[in-house]
Amino acid sequence: MFGFLKEKLKKIIPGLSKKVEEEAQPVKVEELPKEEKKPEPKLAELAERAKERKELEEKAAREIKELLGEKEEKKSILQKIKEEIVKKKELITTVSLSEDKFNDIFWDLELILLENNVAVEIIEKIKQNLKDKLVNTRIKRSNINNVIKDTLKETISNLFITEEADFIQKVKSKKPFIISFVGINGSGKTTTIAKIAHLLKKNNLKSVLAASDTFRAAAIDQLQLHANNLGLKLIKHDYGADAAAVAYDAVEYAKAHNIDAVLIDTAGRLHSNINLMDELKKINRVAQPDLKIFVGEAITGNDCVEQAKEFNNKIGIDGIILTKADVDEKGGAAISISYVTGKPILFLATGQDYDDLKKFNPSIILKNLGLEEEK
Ligand code: GDP
Repeated sequence: MFGFLKEKLKKIIPGLSKKVEEEAQPVKVEELPKEEKKPEPKLAELAERAKERKELEEKAAREIKELLGEKEEKKSILQKIKEEIVKKKELITTVSLSEDKFNDIFWDLELILLENNVAVEIIEKIKQNLKDKLVNTRIKRSNINNVIKDTLKETISNLFITEEADFIQKVKSKKPFIISFVGINGSGKTTTIAKIAHLLKKNNLKSVLAASDTFRAAAIDQLQLHANNLGLKLIKHDYGADAAAVAYDAVEYAKAHNIDAVLIDTAGRLHSNINLMDELKKINRVAQPDLKIFVGEAITGNDCVEQAKEFNNKIGIDGIILTKADVDEKGGAAISISYVTGKPILFLATGQDYDDLKKFNPSIILKNLGLEEEK
């Protein structure tokens, strides 16, 4: 997963650090805050101070004599000298980067993120956060690599809207719990519905499936196949029937048979098609889903993010399942979709078997990008 982007990041982070090191300027001593000037003292005061100073000097000379005789005290003087040296060294190894130089350097990373389908608003966010950390601030040369890596990690991990409630607990909270699945054809909707039914079954929750994609006869057949495999009831009407009526019948069936969850498959002929959106709105009105899940193919990158936005604007979605994450080398959709839609990713679908469904966690993304250690 995300191998392509991971490799690119692995190369670019040390490359960026090196460039920042080369382009950054050492912080000059005159840039350090100057000591405030005190007002000139009067003559009498000067005489008094000279006297005091003489006494102090005599006292200090006596004390230094004693001090030098004591080993422990010698050590502390040495320690102070060492600290001074470290401070001076730090001054030499501390650098600062101008905004122009930063923009030049960031371009390489920007290109990699664009190539990997990371949404533009996210690239801007990463850029701003790196700028805050690197431009016109003092930074130790030896720390540049870590600052870049940590900033990327922090920015990406904050992009995800996280879901507090556990999915299974949520389904258990109402009976029947109604879930509709939306998304364009071929995104893996039917397979994902079967995976969710399988997950619920493993948690002793029974589902009924609703074949509300009445537009494609093949979709009904395919859902029937999954229902047979999993030993589930499928509610279906004929090809071309009213999709909302199928969903309604499935809800009624669940109520009559003490079924825990209703999983509604929907059509996805073209996400921008007005008729489709009207059909989905009707399903929402008639079946009143408790959860509307957008199913999108991770590998389609920006298209997937745009579709999710469109479905959210038109019919409202509550969460996202990204499919085919197992074959997604770029990771752009996974990084961007939650931030762009403001909705949580609930699961990642990672293969064609019923168990290939991973509960989403931002760590999965960070680990696959090489920004967090594998445990
Ligand atoms: P639908 O048209 O949206 O219902 O899509 P399907 O569920 O029929 O899936 C389309 C194709 O994608 C099928 O060949 C599935 O086996 C495959 N598929 C679905 N989910 C995944 C996944 O997570 N990983 C992989 N590699 N293939 C998947």
